Amino acid sequence: MEIQMGSGSKKGSGKTQHTRVVIIGAGPAGLSAALYAARAELSPIVLTGMTIGGQAALTHVIENYPGFPDGLGGAELGELFKAQAERFGAQIVFDTATEVDFSKAPYKVSAYGANYTADAVIIATGATPRHLEVPGEEEFTGRGVSYCGTCDGFFFKDKDVVVIGGGDSAMEEGIFLTRFANNVNVVHRRDELRASPILQTRAMDNPKMDFIWDTVLTAIEGDEAVRHVQLENRKTGEKTKFDTDGVFIFIGHTPNTELFVDQLEMDEKGYLVVNQFMETNKPGIYAVGEVADPHFRQVITSAGMGAAAAIQTTRYLETLE
Ligand SMILES: Cc1cc2nc3c(=O)[nH]c(=O)nc-3n(C[C@H](O)[C@H](O)[C@H](O)COP(=O)(O)OP(=O)(O)OC[C@H]3O[C@@H](n4cnc5c(N)ncnc54)[C@H](O)[C@@H]3O)c2cc1C
Repeated sequence: MEIQMGSGSKKGSGKTQHTRVVIIGAGPAGLSAALYAARAELSPIVLTGMTIGGQAALTHVIENYPGFPDGLGGAELGELFKAQAERFGAQIVFDTATEVDFSKAPYKVSAYGANYTADAVIIATGATPRHLEVPGEEEFTGRGVSYCGTCDGFFFKDKDVVVIGGGDSAMEEGIFLTRFANNVNVVHRRDELRASPILQTRAMDNPKMDFIWDTVLTAIEGDEAVRHVQLENRKTGEKTKFDTDGVFIFIGHTPNTELFVDQLEMDEKGYLVVNQFMETNKPGIYAVGEVADPHFRQVITSAGMGAAAAIQTTRYLETLE
């Protein structure tokens, strides 16, 4: 792996390097794209950003990625993805894309350490779950604080959890969590939910779900794991210390697409728009994983999109020859 340090400037100070494919992002989507592009002998350059393995690397164990019946660490999975892509010739560069110019091919991608031109670009910059920004949130992430019920619900068998949020994701994930948890207490800042009526009905009818209205979470506390949260009623100002084993936060995701504003088509929430071939509105530019997928948000679906884009990129580059 090459290490490139940030310089503060948006453009790389070094020479411009031409490559057939640049992949932006090294989560499950980017590294799967890298594996397929490398095996097609395209020698892709992968810009990793800050994390190898992406969001998957945040979780201590992943049990729903096929091929690992005993599960494995999220960071370890990222390292395995990377090693497999490198084995076939992917060049993994620890650097962050800071600017792109997709006005015409070859496309330009600048990073802190270098500038690249590429015949094709695969964007896999993922999404960031929105954070509450309260004390304890960062400290207990992976130790009771989670942004993914599907992923972490299993660890809360017969425990009590709180869910933060009032939209569709919060209700869907809250209902899912009742499969494991004794009690799911939904803490919502308003006195009514934003979720669709059918989800509201299902949540309200679920005997394991309770609602704490007009309330915000102000702190998460514990020792080696979460033990309680501090709540505050927005109308009365009343403060409560509330015992719980877990905090699931579903207040939305932000796709990492700031770099592509005015360059690529996005939906109203900022996700890149792609067709079934992972093609954006510019030829030879693909988007995969959570940056283009507000629906599934899993390692396996993101990896699948990455593989599909690399296959499509290979075909696209053949048409240029
Ligand atoms: C706590 C937690 C637990 C989870 N557990 C599970 C689980 O058990 N099972 C499961 O299937 N899913 C799980 N998920 C969801 C899963 O991690 C994601 O769906 C998956 O990682 C998305 O992959 P991605 O490659 O699209 O994006 P990400 O994983 O978000 O990766 C994005 C990549 O892009 C890079 N990047 C961003 N900006 C730039 C830039 N400007 N330049 C270069 N690189 C950049 C980042 O550094 C990163 O490498 C979990 C998520 C979280 C948050």
